[in-house]
Amino acid sequence: MSEWRLTVGMEIHVELETKTKMFCGCANDPFHSDANTNVCPVCYGLPGALPLINKEAVAMVIRFGRAIKADIAPKTFWARKNYFYPDLPKGYQISQSTLPLVDGGQITIDGETYHLNHAHLEEDAGKLSHSADKTHSLVDYNRAGVPLLEIVTEPDFHTAEAAKKFCQELQRIFRTLKISSADMEKGQMRCEANISVSKTDVLGTKVEVKNIGSFRMVEKAILYEYDRQIEALEGGEKLRQETRGWDDVKGKTVVMRTKETSADYRYFPEPDLPMVATSLDAVETTHILPDEQRAKLAELGLHKEVIGAVVDKNGFALVMELAGKDKDMAIEAGKLFLAIPKFAELDQENQEALLNLRKQNGWPKDTVAEIVEKAVTEGKSIEKIAPEFAQNEDLSGVVKDVINKNQKQVEEYKAGKEVVFQYLVGQVMAATKGRANIQQVRDELKKALGNTNS
Ligand SMILES: [Zn+2]
Repeated sequence: MSEWRLTVGMEIHVELETKTKMFCGCANDPFHSDANTNVCPVCYGLPGALPLINKEAVAMVIRFGRAIKADIAPKTFWARKNYFYPDLPKGYQISQSTLPLVDGGQITIDGETYHLNHAHLEEDAGKLSHSADKTHSLVDYNRAGVPLLEIVTEPDFHTAEAAKKFCQELQRIFRTLKISSADMEKGQMRCEANISVSKTDVLGTKVEVKNIGSFRMVEKAILYEYDRQIEALEGGEKLRQETRGWDDVKGKTVVMRTKETSADYRYFPEPDLPMVATSLDAVETTHILPDEQRAKLAELGLHKEVIGAVVDKNGFALVMELAGKDKDMAIEAGKLFLAIPKFAELDQENQEALLNLRKQNGWPKDTVAEIVEKAVTEGKSIEKIAPEFAQNEDLSGVVKDVINKNQKQVEEYKAGKEVVFQYLVGQVMAATKGRANIQQVRDELKKALGNTNS
């Protein structure tokens, strides 16, 4: 008997970080605003309110499409997808799903290529919060109308891990292209998996799993469905095409509803939005995708873990720029992205300044971590903070100063009162705010006191 083969296609929604919403001038800022403050008659779909297409959102989608070598539709087309739900004030969602802006495309991860069916723009719905005692629900429409990119892949995944890695790679691509932070915890990126099993080349009955809230859950939900479907089929059961939700507490999928067909949504052209020609000229396409970044970093001889950290923390530009001038420093920069998480929070100018000063001062990793922490929490530049840490280098000035200011104690020491030496060490330490190496202080002091003897 042949083995059951898993087949998965992914659907990924990502909120685009435009300044304003998809069809009106309301701020696109659902995470930092009081509930229902970024709303207007267009968001609510009030009679007479007319939508306008957000050019920035369309440009972001074209940027994504070109980066993954997809075809871009020559014109935009919008349709109404009708359904009733409390988080959808208009009673319909404006979507491009019948004629997507991005057709095809592919993403390569470490030599494996996965294909997209299409990607299209639509608008997000509002957000419902249900009270713990289940007596009431609240709705916030700040998110209603936020531009949403939906990406639909071909059924190219045959392991749960491959599907998870693909979602992680997409997040890196969104961040590289600066179209979204794609934070799954905030719901900026949401994954759904279409899962089937089969023993032949004909795909089995597809089950859609929603409510997958993290990359870890992508993998767990697919593995669970794989086992559940095989068990059902081997027990003589017939699978239904249905939508299930991942329950992370119970560690299982549960039935949500049997699958709607597109006829249920009564799609029809959006009468208030014209067809608009798309232009590729104004869209920047110079971004280097994560897979190419990894290949270039590997050529530098960086360790695989270091490469992962550099790509994830947006450090590629810095490392490559340094590589052209000072290869060792480029490698050091890569290591800092892995060893010191907050290093990525500095801007490139400060990252470079830190690397240069480290080379001059010979700071150990702990000192670098301390400087980074201080720069990030106090919002100061590396140049401003560095002098406090540079004192280890030249203690002679401080030592001389302490000797001059404590002539009485110096005389006592020279007269044989050894205990005074500790006092002088303490004075030097205080003058360096405790940052000096104590052994170095003792050595410098002995040297200086010896000199005054002679
Ligand atoms: Zn609005």
